Amino acid sequence: MQCIVPPYIVEHMARSEDPRVRERAMVSLAHAAAVRAVRAFAQKLPAMMAAPSPAGRKYRLVYDARKKDRLPGKLVRSEGEAKSSDPAVNEAYDHSGTTFDFFQVLFGRNSLDDAGMALISSVHVGEVDGGGKFQPMSNAFWDGGQMAYGDGDGEVFQRFTRSLDVVAHELTHGVQSFTSNLAYYGQSGALNEHFADVFGVLVRQWREGVSAEKASWLVGADVLVPAATRRGIRDMEHPGTAFTDDPALGSDPQPDHMNHVYAGPGDSGGVHINSGIPNRAFVLVAQAIGGPAWETPGRIWYDAMLQLSRTSDFDDLATLTAQIAGDRFDTATKKAVRGAWRKVGL
Ligand SMILES: [Zn+2]
Repeated sequence: MQCIVPPYIVEHMARSEDPRVRERAMVSLAHAAAVRAVRAFAQKLPAMMAAPSPAGRKYRLVYDARKKDRLPGKLVRSEGEAKSSDPAVNEAYDHSGTTFDFFQVLFGRNSLDDAGMALISSVHVGEVDGGGKFQPMSNAFWDGGQMAYGDGDGEVFQRFTRSLDVVAHELTHGVQSFTSNLAYYGQSGALNEHFADVFGVLVRQWREGVSAEKASWLVGADVLVPAATRRGIRDMEHPGTAFTDDPALGSDPQPDHMNHVYAGPGDSGGVHINSGIPNRAFVLVAQAIGGPAWETPGRIWYDAMLQLSRTSDFDDLATLTAQIAGDRFDTATKKAVRGAWRKVGL
């Protein structure tokens, strides 16, 4: 199950002093266990989960789950149809379209599977609480065939469709299921999360036309209810600082160097935790090269995502990106990539 809100945040919320935050977190934990089984099955059969596009090009379908957990729900907006009166529907439609355009314009990729697969989104997804009542889901996920977005609890999380980087993050999990398909555990799983974060923020930076020097490297800033103790779900530039002593979220556990790599069993072997290390390396590459990060750094990382295999680890990505930088670009680029990896201990 590839959710944007990692389990360590939900577990911290389950211990919150606020009974409303606690109750909602308990619901999410129960829900996550149930869908993990579906996700594990879906990852083995990505081709079967793909809905083909009738036109073989950009084709979006947005469904309204109507606060229930049955996916996809009722079809409310198809490709080319007029705007809805519901902002969540329009956000899911627009952000999935921007993500499609990004991969097509820069890399010539025709949708997630490179074969025109339809982009299916469900908004207003709910989950059943302890009393059997439906509550808005405080998460967004990719289930192997489609996107699902909750509306958030309104106390910690807002509507998940608000964030372009969250939408692009989840759709990049889709791209990966058709390419490297990195196993979702340990270092390969952290690379899966890493690529989703890289292309999540690059889609936003590309849309805004902001170069690496001025860009925001926060993931999920727009889905949080603002507070002094939180800036995002993750910070790629300064891993471990996205939230600090937050009453609901706790403190960001991401390391920024191999000296502090997480070696425990939680979070599927630290998939959302250790991704901080390659995330930091990517930002250092982007800042060393300068200019739009989706250009040279983005192209190196896109090629690497296509060439890695299920069990690749951090060393594999460090070696491969340096090699691609030298082959596709030049010695200076290769040096920048090598230098960035060395700074995070790889
Ligand atoms: Zn993810």
